[in-house]
Amino acid sequence: MEAITFAGLMGAVVGSFLNVVAYRLPRHESLVSPGSHCPHCGVPVKPYDNIPIISWLLLRGHCRACEGPISPRYPVVEALTAALCVGAVLAHHTAVSVALSIVLILLVVPAALIDLEHRIIPNRITALGAVLALAIGLALDPAGEPERLIAGAAAGGFLLLAALAYPGGMGMGDVKLAGVMGLLLGPAVAPAVLIALLAGVLLGAVIIARKGAREGRKTAVPFGPFLAAGALVAVFAGQPIVDLYINHFVH
Ligand SMILES: [Zn+2]
Repeated sequence: MEAITFAGLMGAVVGSFLNVVAYRLPRHESLVSPGSHCPHCGVPVKPYDNIPIISWLLLRGHCRACEGPISPRYPVVEALTAALCVGAVLAHHTAVSVALSIVLILLVVPAALIDLEHRIIPNRITALGAVLALAIGLALDPAGEPERLIAGAAAGGFLLLAALAYPGGMGMGDVKLAGVMGLLLGPAVAPAVLIALLAGVLLGAVIIARKGAREGRKTAVPFGPFLAAGALVAVFAGQPIVDLYINHFVH
């Protein structure tokens, strides 16, 4: 119970920081200074107005100083991160899989937000993810590391082929993100990438159906959020999917 409460509280606090990362990292601003300030009037946010989720609700999404609107994206990201961290603690039962799952969550949330807004996945995010994946994997489960390295190379390689085949659809940021997802998920990266591709193709078909082939093809949809969604499904259902596949087709 304590672990779940802790995961929820830390998830909300870290989610608050991920909001800062998603906003400032692509704008090349410092992640620590200045502290949070209102985007409208620039007044620094008081510590008691900076409580994840709660402050936004109490202030009904407005700045205390100028009453300018504060995007609901902030409390949504905080609540989502908290819920995902709680889910990771509930769904995983070994230290290594809890730790790798939480790193994955904290990696794909800002990656998806930044890719949606800026069409990039910063190297600093994927590089940090790779370093954490290797450090945690080697410290807590060295015997499983070869499998995760193979999964990372396979997922990255697969996306690299896809990016070379469809240069407009994917970028190197997606390739690196898929590789890091493999280092964190191990074999469960396979359903993650498949779900991402299916969802991406499906959305592409919907856009083409609504806008027509010509306009639809011009509507670039970043692939990072699909990879993030696939990764989150795999965090919670990846191993059962892999087991199901192996039981049906391999044995
Ligand atoms: Zn303000």
